[in-house]
Amino acid sequence: MKPIYSCDEKEVILRLPLTSNNWQAPRLLGTAAVAAVGLTLFSVGSTNLVAVDTPDNSATLPADNPFAAPSPLPFHTPAFDKIRSEHFLPTFAVAMKQQLAEMKAIANQTEAATFKNTIESMERSGALLTRVDNVFSNLTAAEKTKALQNIENELAPQRAAHSDNILINRPLFQRVEKLWQQKQSLGLSEEQAEVLKQRYESFLRAGARLSDQDQVRIRSLNEQLSKLETKFEENLLQISKERAVVVDTAKELDGLSTAEIAAAAQAAKERGQEGKYLLQISNTTRVPVIVSLKNRALRQRVWDASANRGLGRDGGVDNRGLVLEIAQLRAERAKILGYENHAAYKLQNQMAKTPAAARKLLTDLVPGVMERVNQEARDLEAMIKECGESHELAPWDWEYYSEKVRKARFDLDEAALRPYFELDSVLKNGVFFTMNKLYGISFRERKDLPVYHPDVRTFDVFDQDGSQIGLFYADYFKRDTKRGGAWMNSFVDQSRLLYDKPVIVNCLNIPRPAEGEPALISFDNVTTLFHEMGHALHGMFSDVTYPTVAGTATPRDFVEFPSTFEEDWAIQPEILANYAVHYQTGKPIPKELLDKAIRAKKFNKGFETLEYLAASLLDLEWHSLTGDQIPTDVEKFETETLKKVGVNHPAIPPRYRTTYFAHIWSGGYSSSYYAYLWSETLAADAFAHMIEKGGCTRENGVAFRKEILSRGSSRDPMASYKAFRGKEPTVDALLIRRGLK
Ligand SMILES: [Zn+2]
Repeated sequence: MKPIYSCDEKEVILRLPLTSNNWQAPRLLGTAAVAAVGLTLFSVGSTNLVAVDTPDNSATLPADNPFAAPSPLPFHTPAFDKIRSEHFLPTFAVAMKQQLAEMKAIANQTEAATFKNTIESMERSGALLTRVDNVFSNLTAAEKTKALQNIENELAPQRAAHSDNILINRPLFQRVEKLWQQKQSLGLSEEQAEVLKQRYESFLRAGARLSDQDQVRIRSLNEQLSKLETKFEENLLQISKERAVVVDTAKELDGLSTAEIAAAAQAAKERGQEGKYLLQISNTTRVPVIVSLKNRALRQRVWDASANRGLGRDGGVDNRGLVLEIAQLRAERAKILGYENHAAYKLQNQMAKTPAAARKLLTDLVPGVMERVNQEARDLEAMIKECGESHELAPWDWEYYSEKVRKARFDLDEAALRPYFELDSVLKNGVFFTMNKLYGISFRERKDLPVYHPDVRTFDVFDQDGSQIGLFYADYFKRDTKRGGAWMNSFVDQSRLLYDKPVIVNCLNIPRPAEGEPALISFDNVTTLFHEMGHALHGMFSDVTYPTVAGTATPRDFVEFPSTFEEDWAIQPEILANYAVHYQTGKPIPKELLDKAIRAKKFNKGFETLEYLAASLLDLEWHSLTGDQIPTDVEKFETETLKKVGVNHPAIPPRYRTTYFAHIWSGGYSSSYYAYLWSETLAADAFAHMIEKGGCTRENGVAFRKEILSRGSSRDPMASYKAFRGKEPTVDALLIRRGLK
């Protein structure tokens, strides 16, 4: 399957691409329903029984396979105590066969196509596949063993082929197309019409209308891309090892904390370099240790290791050829499918709809951001002088001196904040408290469900009338088997058709406290807890009939809206008063300290916005190329592009440079990195609107739940937005949120 990328953006895990060309494909390929395995009859709709080819014996699972039947646990939550890695490959194999048989049965019916016997039956298909994939996709992110890694690699091409097998199925497409043509006279509800539209488009986007010859080519491209994308991901793992910087003496690490130095010593030891120190790079161009490393030459070394990743320097991994090949194949596929380029193809079913709309949002911000960045650079240059130094402001200086300016201006000591952010208090008195005020829901921890790691906590979630909404899993601590970043995923998606209620998980990477110590977390992690809960609510409040449009199955440029929106409650005074209390004394956080922390959050936003704009525009430009425009020199293209779009600042490189930009080459965000800012625009506008209307009130929460959180993608996202807000969003609130205005 397509790997889910670990990133430092807070993200939702989208039900991932069986093909890389349509991120909604898996949901569109249906979920749940056809009961027992190995029957010769499949139930289609509720009335017809249609004979299909007798499945071969390999299309069955032994009864002791925990995926063979829906889990007997509450809400069909996975039986993690019974699931083992050796279950996955045979289950996926059977699951794909089953779904193909189901789709074949739908396609070969003699009855004329109806919404029920075609679309609804497709929605019911793939029960086993959904069941196993929901578990697998979370485990490969949250508890990835070597065995799972191997299975993931083995599955990738099979799953790409499976998606094509379904979406390039002419008789099935013809039934869907017939319904599409008759849509006005079918008497469909708004949600049904949307499901039909998405289904129809997913066929078109996969090439259902193409000639046999072109379809063969598309399949071959999908398969090649799937392999190349997996290769890119593997290379990044290799790169993060080879680019780590080894330091001989602790003296060179002056500026780092004792704990950071100890961690570096430990990391070196684990690599067989006992007595030395290992500084690791992170996902983004920035490296956290640069903030405090006093040794400028070492800062430069670390920065070089990070920013020149994947360029084949010093005999290391070279991703340049891989990137060019992926871009080339994507451009070819877009052309065959009738689009000008890959970006046009990708954005057609997004809220932005066109690359031009996405580009406009980004480029409109450039002049204001550049102005802010230049101001920030002047402040840093002044600080360099103040420190009695005379060098220019280089990329490896920015964060180091920026931290000094931050300290001088805000005198904010992160460590002084932490005692007020004890994890359990933030969770219960902050996150759960806010969700209760806004939406009336409550959480109650339970200890009887099996989990995939002892760190995982489980909660019943109740609605305001006392009925149970579903289950919530919280997996907050960092560990070696967990990828970086934070995300939400679902084990069961809500659907009225399938009588399913949601089971949702949030994963973070909070450093584990020492045994017996409380988990005092950073202000950033406080925000992330609220953010991920926003995704969780999007899944839990889903109130739709069809799985295709449930919960977070929305366009990428919409999906970060509910999560980013919830972030801002973390700094509302009435909420803070409830959770930000000292873990020992119970005293509230001093106002002065808090004000500083909030103002500090807006510090350096010019830099942050620019590095993001640069990466987003780089992404759009790479994917706006036609096949014959693909360059041969990756670095030259990158430099020229950044200059062309006006975001080339000598001290601020893109957040990701081309050769390690996993979001766009292997993470499903190709042409879509802009989506975070698009979503944030919606979030800022909606939040400002809510504050205007009285803030954290039940009335506001109920309206947001009704028009946004419950809808999934059962109607056009802008229609949902306007139903809540009364009009389309503007960037005004975004600029204020980022401190740029
Ligand atoms: Zn997110």
